[in-house]
Amino acid sequence: MQSFKALVVESSDPYTAHIRQAALDELPQGDVLVQVAYSSLNYKDALAVTGAGKVIRSFPMVPGIDLAGKVLESASPEYKPGDLVILTGWGVGERHWGGLAELARVRSEWLLPLPEGLTLQQAMGIGTAGFTAMLALMALEAHGIDPSREVLVTGAAGGVGSLAVALLARRGYRVVAATGRTSEEAYLKLLGAHEILDRSALSAPARPLESERFGGAVDTVGGAVLAGVLPRMAYGSSVVACGNAGGARLETTVFPFILRGVNLLGIDSVMCPKEKRLLAWQRLVQDLPRPLLEATMQTVSLEDVPRLAQAFLQGQVRGRLVVQLT
Ligand code: NDP
Repeated sequence: MQSFKALVVESSDPYTAHIRQAALDELPQGDVLVQVAYSSLNYKDALAVTGAGKVIRSFPMVPGIDLAGKVLESASPEYKPGDLVILTGWGVGERHWGGLAELARVRSEWLLPLPEGLTLQQAMGIGTAGFTAMLALMALEAHGIDPSREVLVTGAAGGVGSLAVALLARRGYRVVAATGRTSEEAYLKLLGAHEILDRSALSAPARPLESERFGGAVDTVGGAVLAGVLPRMAYGSSVVACGNAGGARLETTVFPFILRGVNLLGIDSVMCPKEKRLLAWQRLVQDLPRPLLEATMQTVSLEDVPRLAQAFLQGQVRGRLVVQLT
């Protein structure tokens, strides 16, 4: 394959993103060449494709923070042609050409073998979003979740949110799914939510401390929603902050921390040691029922991505978007 199809963001001024044939020698350095079977559309990718956020560090750039595919060439002793691999994070799609192309050349230390029990398509159904949801669950468990209380997930109909709901419900927690789309009640109940909470109930101004309700929370929204979550947390509970789809600024008081001992934990799916990555994927294989995973996924083509990236940022996409490349 001397040339291959890629979604390329050519420049920032004017912001130009289009699908074109790229040449092999345009690919960045790396010891493994992967034929990409699937990538996925994550929040960062939607920002990168539309130019709505400054995600890309150098131009031209192929967005796509994750990918799954088959090794075509390898100078690494760890991988040989024909091996099935996955990649999430590592700045791919931001400072190194990413997954929204038929080929990717990457560094072998960024790859993991495809986890046994998953197809390449299912692995991208999980993708960076599901990996992040699992890291959030692991962080909550490491700090202890009071099983007699409810666990909250915000941005519940989104990618990270949907998989967090499914994973927490599967572990037996009573999950409250906060969403701006109460029309998605049937979907969220299918994933295992026991109650749907309108997002506005959290984003409205709150007192410094409200009644203690939640024994744990996964927040993908940030901003006013996270500010509304903190006063409602039970004594000694933890909130995992994953994202900022609703804003990066956090205006709160110190009272949830000093009067209720609430922990605010941060998740970064990029800087994650290999052992923890492997463990998180192993748990995803075990804990995520395939019918629920399939319920969160829709598979689209590369040509669909520019339109869907706009819809994604308007909060109109439910669950996970898998992008089929080859
Ligand atoms: P999605 O767009 O799929 O989900 C975000 C959800 O947040 C939406 O579905 C919507 O949920 C809600 N939302 C969107 N806009 C707003 C708004 N303006 N105000 C309030 N709520 C809003 O994105 P992802 O699930 O892929 O990612 C979620 C966040 O997590 C992003 O900020 C992303 O960058 C971050 N992220 C962080 C990672 C890390 O390593 N820390 C890794 C992966 C993602 P609903 O309609 O249900 O309310």
